[in-house]
Amino acid sequence: MTVKTDRGYVYLVGAGPGDPGLLTIKGAQCIQKADVIIYDRLVSKKLLNYARPDAELIYVGKSPERHTLKQEEINQLLVAKAKEGLVVTRLKGGDPFVFGRGGEEAEVLQQNGIAFEIVPGITSAIAVPAYAGIPVTHRDCTSTIGIITGNEDPTKEDSNIAWDKIATGMGTLVFLMGMANLPNIVKQLLTYGRSADTPVALVRWGTRPEQETLTGTLADIVIKAEEAGFKNPAIIIVGEVVKLRDKLQWFEKKPLFGQRIVVTRSREQASALSARLEELGAEVWEFPTIEIASPVDWTAFDAALDSLNQFQWIIFTSVNGVRAFFERLRNRQMDVRNLYGIKICAIGPKTRECLEKYGLNIEYVPEEYVAEAVVAGLKDKIVKGDKVLLPRADIARKVLADSLKELGAEVTEVIAYRTVKSRFGEQNLTQMLKELQITMVTFTSSSTVKNFVDGIASNQLHELMAGVTVACIGPITAQTAKNSGLTVHVQATEYTIEGLVQSIVDYIQKYK
Ligand code: SAH
Repeated sequence: MTVKTDRGYVYLVGAGPGDPGLLTIKGAQCIQKADVIIYDRLVSKKLLNYARPDAELIYVGKSPERHTLKQEEINQLLVAKAKEGLVVTRLKGGDPFVFGRGGEEAEVLQQNGIAFEIVPGITSAIAVPAYAGIPVTHRDCTSTIGIITGNEDPTKEDSNIAWDKIATGMGTLVFLMGMANLPNIVKQLLTYGRSADTPVALVRWGTRPEQETLTGTLADIVIKAEEAGFKNPAIIIVGEVVKLRDKLQWFEKKPLFGQRIVVTRSREQASALSARLEELGAEVWEFPTIEIASPVDWTAFDAALDSLNQFQWIIFTSVNGVRAFFERLRNRQMDVRNLYGIKICAIGPKTRECLEKYGLNIEYVPEEYVAEAVVAGLKDKIVKGDKVLLPRADIARKVLADSLKELGAEVTEVIAYRTVKSRFGEQNLTQMLKELQITMVTFTSSSTVKNFVDGIASNQLHELMAGVTVACIGPITAQTAKNSGLTVHVQATEYTIEGLVQSIVDYIQKYK
């Protein structure tokens, strides 16, 4: 828990341009420690997964029409929450001090005597061109860059923008919030002497799967944008550097660019699939998003640790259980030597590997990893009256403990860790599918299908999955998906994670 100060504390954090990977480490820490998170429209909701489960999340997304009043309300909200003594993280798109009104928010905090910190972010003015393959400076064509608001009506008399100077006085011009004013901006630049054949790029939803780029020149970009119906949020890049895109374009070329994929995973499943899909250019959302937390109460666990020598067996059912067990052991100034004489059973190869890292030999690893098989294998190993310690998750199946008891063992179950669902808003799966423009869902086992379908009201399944590609790891999973009312588009030819990824890439190359 955060230590609460009398007057709270506010972090004004830049959340980057949209790709959730483009958040600073410090920014992530500020989200983790916040009691309250106040975030804008252009902030990736994925970043809210860093939030504590009990943190309050407040969306203050503004639309261009109701700007002024809202800002005042946001300022008051920041002040009010901080005055409650809370740690507030104010998440703003890009960098908080680049056209983000972060300066105004900081001023209000300063006026109210509230301590604050600025955590800079990666501004869209630089990152969005980069993701479109446009370096904002380049030795061969420009040594200057101007970042300009496109929000101001260029025809107004007392313009803050010296059009006569910037039109020709600077190499690269990057306009933010300028789409509505594009014709005026172009007109001003031409009026004040910028050549009509100057290259221009418009980049919409940069760094995200929806990224769209349109290029032209000052002579034709207005017409082109109109024809394409190009809208905000977009930036306008003017200058010779735009030409480099032909050579340097990279993001839009990634095999899974444009894909926003839900990876359904069963509990404890490592996210190798997510990592691989992200490498290939997809944005990945895991469902369920599981996090590991400490037990609410350690009493039972500690009591077991204090009397470890009474146990003949410890059965570890997961890597998380192993980690939690040894962490607690060390917290209590104990270590592996306290396990002398106790036989160890590991369920699953990963659990075994993890235990071996602690220097332990494993007595028994069942061939199959379901509780029933474990018990069948332990039958002739466990003697009536044996004391068995079972460190486990808060929501483990009862069947393992029950069957061990039937063998005559005395079972002590202790909660080593809790699995908690992480969150973005109170968002559930239905909202995720409705709001995030998901393009694909992957299934790696029948249970992931079941998990997924359980998360959606059955009368909504068809509608929510319309246009969404379904990818399954193998025939059994695919069959379960079909039986659950889903249409399967991709079925891996090789039933591994790598095989699934390959089949997804092949499918996308072929059909998209
Ligand atoms: N503080 C932000 C800018 C806020 S003003 C920053 O540093 O990036 C909002 C404007 O930023 C939008 O109108 C648009 O012009 C630009 N913008 C922000 N994110 C963008 C994105 N992902 N793609 C294109 N333009 C973006």
